[in-house]
Amino acid sequence: MSAEPFIVVLIGPGGAGKGTLARALVAGDHALWLSKSWTTRPVRATEDGSEYHFVDRETFERAIEDDAFLEWAEFHGNLYGTPRPRPPEGAEVLLEIEVQGAEQVVERARESVVFLIVAPSMQQLEERLRGRGDSDEHVTTRLASAPAEMARGQKIARYVIVNDDVQRASGEILSILEELRQQRRTPSIKD
Ligand code: 5GP
Repeated sequence: MSAEPFIVVLIGPGGAGKGTLARALVAGDHALWLSKSWTTRPVRATEDGSEYHFVDRETFERAIEDDAFLEWAEFHGNLYGTPRPRPPEGAEVLLEIEVQGAEQVVERARESVVFLIVAPSMQQLEERLRGRGDSDEHVTTRLASAPAEMARGQKIARYVIVNDDVQRASGEILSILEELRQQRRTPSIKD
């Protein structure tokens, strides 16, 4: 049995509601610590600047050279990265990232559990993307890449969660996590 805290990873196409879900999870479970990512993308009109550590490309690239990231990826022309996590003692790290980054985490982290978050339908995915105030062009690109992101995500995800309602979906994830914690507390004979 391992005492290392889990790294819990939420992946899924833009508009699936990973961000809202991540916030509901940390509000519902204080053992979870949400990592704050770095990005080179501009702040959206609907954001207040606290969503990411917003930096220019040069600063980001310097941080890559300094080996400051657990994972990083280029996504639709912008860089995104998870700084090496420093959670409070015993806390589980929660990441809300895209699939290329999640593949790196699965490869590098000792114990990770990946949840693929999907919207109930492509129509809802589109509505959610439009609701964020992004340009039509941006919405079209993000929608076009969603099926490939989901197919790639399915290869590393242990669970697929339909985000039909944030309270229900976060409840489902929290009960799965509780079950996984229980399993680690009760080692099998092999351990
Ligand atoms: P957005 O620009 O819509 O905020 O995010 C675009 C995508 O980047 C989303 O799928 C989001 O989950 C992902 N993302 C956010 N932070 C990180 C990160 O630190 N690393 C990686 N690989 N992806 C991230």
